[in-house]
Amino acid sequence: MYGIKRLAIKIGSNVLTRADGTLDVTRMSSLVDQIAFLHRNGLEIILISSGAVASGRNEIKVKGRLDDVSARQLYAAVGQAKLMNRYYDFFKAHGIACGQVLTTKESLGTRRHYLNQKNCVNVMLENKVIPIMNENDTIAVTELMFTDNDELSGMIAAMMDAEMLILLSNVDGIYNGSPGDSTAEIIREIDLSNDITACIQTGKSTFGRGGMLTKYRIARKVAGEGIEVIIANGKTEAVLPRLLEKNQDVLCSRFIPSPKVSSGIKKWIAHSESFAKGEIHINADAAKVLSDEKATSLLPVGIVAVKGVFEKDDIVRIYDDKLRQIGLGKVSYDSVKARELIGKKGNKPVIHYDYLCLDLRQ
Ligand code: GLU
Repeated sequence: MYGIKRLAIKIGSNVLTRADGTLDVTRMSSLVDQIAFLHRNGLEIILISSGAVASGRNEIKVKGRLDDVSARQLYAAVGQAKLMNRYYDFFKAHGIACGQVLTTKESLGTRRHYLNQKNCVNVMLENKVIPIMNENDTIAVTELMFTDNDELSGMIAAMMDAEMLILLSNVDGIYNGSPGDSTAEIIREIDLSNDITACIQTGKSTFGRGGMLTKYRIARKVAGEGIEVIIANGKTEAVLPRLLEKNQDVLCSRFIPSPKVSSGIKKWIAHSESFAKGEIHINADAAKVLSDEKATSLLPVGIVAVKGVFEKDDIVRIYDDKLRQIGLGKVSYDSVKARELIGKKGNKPVIHYDYLCLDLRQ
């Protein structure tokens, strides 16, 4: 009916909270109605919902002063339960079951954990259960945290091979100037060949962690993997069905997906930069060969340096002769063996083409 089968929807904290920081249950109920409608029409939907910390904040009166980490953990623990309770009741009213999946960046870092997580969401979808995902904010602190739920939703959309990712926030899309400026307009279609980073406002959202710049970066990356990404306003009337029925005009920014869909493992590698354990530096010839359209693996002969300590199958960063990071890959050797092979001819690839992910800055 909609030309796609699987859709990931991220709802930002600002969509679900009122100006005073309390949970906007009216908005939530309306979004659940829309999701239920799409679900009834045969779409498989994965929901990534923020709002745990925001909805926990007003629930408890804290005695004394709490440090930032403890406050976040406390609010998230209470708020996530409250959020799920609401979702559960709203979906139940439509006769739809939903389930909670809390994740952390670390648990998506190894291929085995990643596939476990994927399997969990798959089994839910197969049984017509709507997965509602969030970061486990009670244990994800500081450097172990996702930048925000935009990053998480990009990873989930890629992991689950969704055909579309909708990022709902409290703005209509990406403006070609400051949103406050009356002449600024929403950029309706964003083409991957055109980098518009320079026009994006760098401010952060009020209740969530993300901002437009991270949304834009994630959206580009995900669209580069062949998934259509839409940034739209979660407060727009019936926004979800209207976005999917393409003849209906809704103000939003659409990222045109790359016609080439990346393989599952390449998508995992592309979203695993923060787990990279080491670096491989290559010479100009190797960099040129890799940048060719033709599928090529990274051979020892093109390597000039190996940095850090890593095991076979870890993710490493790849740098060219000008010290620019040009990609990521899953290595076939540990760092000791990789060092021994530097510059040698005739060995099997250090990174096989299937596990090589270039153009990260798309
Ligand atoms: N996981 C956080 C929450 O549910 C939101 C993170 C974000 O704002 O992106 O409160």
